Amino acid sequence: MKTISELAVQGVQKLIPYTPGKPIDELERELGLANIVKLASNENPLGPSSKVIEAIQNSLTELSRYPDGNGFALKQALAKKHQVSSAQITLGNGSNEILELVAHAFLTPSDEVVFSQHSFAVYPLVTQAVGATASIAAALEYGHDLDAMLTQVNNKTRLAFIANPNNPTGTLLSATALEEFIGALPETVICVLDEAYYEFIADKDRANSIDWLKQYPNLMITRTFSKAYGLAGLRVGYSISSVEIADLLNRVRQPFNNNSLALVAAEAALDDADYLKQTIALNNQGMKQLTSAFSELDLSWIPSFGNFVSVDLQQTAMPIYHALLKKGVIVRPVANYEMPNHLRISIGTEAENQFFIDALKAVLAESD
Ligand SMILES: *Cc1c(COP(=O)(O)O)cnc(C)c1O
Repeated sequence: MKTISELAVQGVQKLIPYTPGKPIDELERELGLANIVKLASNENPLGPSSKVIEAIQNSLTELSRYPDGNGFALKQALAKKHQVSSAQITLGNGSNEILELVAHAFLTPSDEVVFSQHSFAVYPLVTQAVGATASIAAALEYGHDLDAMLTQVNNKTRLAFIANPNNPTGTLLSATALEEFIGALPETVICVLDEAYYEFIADKDRANSIDWLKQYPNLMITRTFSKAYGLAGLRVGYSISSVEIADLLNRVRQPFNNNSLALVAAEAALDDADYLKQTIALNNQGMKQLTSAFSELDLSWIPSFGNFVSVDLQQTAMPIYHALLKKGVIVRPVANYEMPNHLRISIGTEAENQFFIDALKAVLAESD
């Protein structure tokens, strides 16, 4: 007789679940430490915008009602911001849900999905969960090798995932290279351009990717409120695509996939330009602070366009990760991304960054 596990579909039997950053509470429980700094999940170190908190407080009395299942107000606000129609927008419970919806809408076990080595862990997850086959292209200096990815496209390929900037490497593709890639893809391959860190890219380096949607009906762009907008705990992300793709995603999503607090919070966050500006400024300063410290320690890092940076410790990173935990610092090991000597550090406040730098210096001195 089959065990319960053997009853699961093939892809799920072999699936290794996503490893999130260690929660602060968990480390507190384990070590009894009080001052813990978490720089492990690319969260916004400013905490939520005060406008968001106010909007949530004002909507608490409506909690007994179902949320607006169509997210009318938020979609309108996003449509206005991005100069697209509301019908092109799909809201997700985090942009992670959008990635899952795409897989459900487009993949069967006989399909293939192309993405890069060292790219976001959710791509293999959603691919495998529906029994499709991942076709992973070797990276080029930790970034996407678009030519290699194109070479792996065949008539079974249904999806291509690209994270730009990429997590956990922070690498960025140029607008020109990216558009060329999208243009070269067969129209039967849906290109998911994951722009979770878009807001952190300097203006001069940014692609106006939304403009490309007019020309490429097989393109979809995902964005999130979890990173620069500081709402990771509420789970709101979205995609902008052709109306046709949005209609398909809408069929496979749950009717109330965004809760009511998340909807009002995201709308308020969109409205708070000062918060976003402050976020970017803090991130730019923090990036300098961390990378200067790495230089001082003779460590190299992957130049990053996001709100995190992966540093090469020139030794297996796991013992260093554990030693940092003991000092109350949570960062992110990336061995599961085939980067065993790197740690990914999210940019924190100046004080948090300094706490990490001091801990790292101490740990490296001890391990010498
Ligand atoms: C963080 C992240 C996301 C989105 O996360 P959500 O919280 O689900 O919106 C998507 N893609 C990448 C590459 C990320 O790093």
